[in-house]
Amino acid sequence: MSLTPLLPGALNDRGQPMTLGVMGGGQLGRMFVQAAQAMGYVTVVLDADPASPAGLIAHHHIRTGYEDPQGLAELAQRCDAITTEFENVPAAALRTLAAQRPVAPSADCVAVAQDRIAEKAHFSQCAAISGVHPAPNATIETAGQLAAVADDLLPGILKTARLGYDGKGQIRVKTRAELAAAWEQLGRVACVLEKMLPLQSECSVLVARGADGQVAVFPVQKNTHHDGILAITEVHEGAVPADLAARAQASTVAIANHLGYVGVLCVEYFVVDNGQGGSDLVVNEMAPRPHNSGHYTQNACDVSQFEAQVRALAGLPLPTPRAHSPALMVNLLGDLWFQPNGVRAEASEQPVSPPWAQVLALPGTNLHLYGKLSARPGRKMGHLNITGATLAQVRDTAAQVLALLGLQGL
Ligand code: ADP
Ligand code: MG
Repeated sequence: MSLTPLLPGALNDRGQPMTLGVMGGGQLGRMFVQAAQAMGYVTVVLDADPASPAGLIAHHHIRTGYEDPQGLAELAQRCDAITTEFENVPAAALRTLAAQRPVAPSADCVAVAQDRIAEKAHFSQCAAISGVHPAPNATIETAGQLAAVADDLLPGILKTARLGYDGKGQIRVKTRAELAAAWEQLGRVACVLEKMLPLQSECSVLVARGADGQVAVFPVQKNTHHDGILAITEVHEGAVPADLAARAQASTVAIANHLGYVGVLCVEYFVVDNGQGGSDLVVNEMAPRPHNSGHYTQNACDVSQFEAQVRALAGLPLPTPRAHSPALMVNLLGDLWFQPNGVRAEASEQPVSPPWAQVLALPGTNLHLYGKLSARPGRKMGHLNITGATLAQVRDTAAQVLALLGLQGL
C-alpha cells in the first residue's frame, strides 16, 4: 500500500476523479459506497447481481463474478484503490487486483479470516501478547483427528472451517457419537470442534488500521443474537464491564497489528463465566470488513465504520472515533414484512411494509434500508439505529420500537 493519501475529489495520475472500488454488492458494500460518495469519491462495485444493493447506487457497476478476469481487469483499471465487503471473495481475485492497485485488506489477511483453523492459530499467537485466548478447540480434517478428540471438548460445537455464517455450518454435539454423526452431516469437510462455553454475553470490537500502522479503536459493542443471527447491538458505558472492554480493545489491536492489517476489522468475543463467580474474555472470530454490529456508528459516532473503511483504504488520517450518544441497533429481517404491527400473517401472504411512520415518529430513530427488492424471512433488509441523550431515553424508545415491530421477545 502506498502511503500517499488518495485525496477525495482530486484527480488521479490518469486525469480521472479519485475512485474507490469494492468487491461485493451487498449491504456492507452499499454503505461503503454511501460513505465514499459522501466524501466525494467516485465508486465502483463488482457483483454479478444486477440488483445488488451496492451496485444499484454506485457510479459504476461491473456485473461479473468475482473470478471473471475481464471484470477484475476493469475494476483495477477504473479504481485507485479497492476493498472488499465480503470475506469469501476468492483470495486469488484479491491478489490479481493487488498486482495492479492498492487492495485493503490484503488477500493474506482475508485468507486468515476465511478459515477458522488459520484464524484460531492467529488468535492463539496473539494471546501471548493480549492474554485473550480462543475457546479450547481441535482441528478435525481426518478420521484420525476425529477419534483423537479430547473428552473435555465435549459438549462442544462442530463448525466448518470455511463458509460458515449466522450460525450456519455448525452443529452442537454432546457425545462422541453425536460428534461423528455431525461430521458426516457436514460432509467430512475441514472443521473445528470448540468446547461449549458458559456465555454470559457476547461483544465485538471494530478497529480501523492504516498502512502507516495508525489504529483507531471503536467503543465495545454488546451483541444479542436470535436464531444465530445478530438481533440487537447496544453501545454505552457499562454495556460490557470496563476491564473486559479494555482487554477486548487491546486484543483487537494486537490481532490487527500482528496481521499487518489495513482496513476495518471486527473481532467477536464471548464474555464467559470463569467458574469463580467472575467473568473472563474469549476471542471467537473476526470479519475482515465492517460488521453488522458496527452499524450503530453511523448515527452514534463522529466517524462511522464505513467512513473509517474509506479513510483506511485511501490512506487518510484515522483519529480515535468518539461515540457522542448511547446507541442501540435493531436488525430488520425480512420476517418483519410478514408480521405488520407484530401480527404474524400467513406465510403465503404478500409482504407488507412495517409501520415505519410510527417508528420514525419516535425521537432518535434512524432507518437504514438496503434497497433489497423482495423481503424473505431471515433476509437482512435493513437496520434501525436508536440514539438519545441518555441510556434511559434510548431504552425507552427501543421498547416502543420493538413493540411496534412485534419484536418484544428480543
Ligand atoms: P458464525 O460465523 O455463524 O457467526 P460463530 O462462531 O460466531 O459463528 O457462532 C455463532 C454463535 O454461536 C455465537 O454468536 C454464539 O452465540 C454461539 N457459540 C459459538 N461458539 C460457541 C462456544 N464455543 N460456546 C458457546 N456458544 C458458542
Ligand atoms: Mg459470529
